[in-house]
Amino acid sequence: MAVCKNCGATLCADEISVFLKLVSREAKTYLCKQCLADTFHCDTALIDRKIEQFKRNGCLLFTLGVQKNE
Ligand SMILES: [Zn+2]
Repeated sequence: MAVCKNCGATLCADEISVFLKLVSREAKTYLCKQCLADTFHCDTALIDRKIEQFKRNGCLLFTLGVQKNE
């Protein structure tokens, strides 16, 4: 199971996907929603909106899901 590289929280697939979209497609370590919001100095609600937006746009990272470290 992937964990946040900052706080160690267990990550859900959406958190990994949004990190890949917003930060880097090459990322091997990720941040949870809260730490990502802190990094961007924004609200976690904005991250949630981004996740919804990417899903609506049919982004493959979200529709396929990210299943790493099985
Ligand atoms: Zn975190």
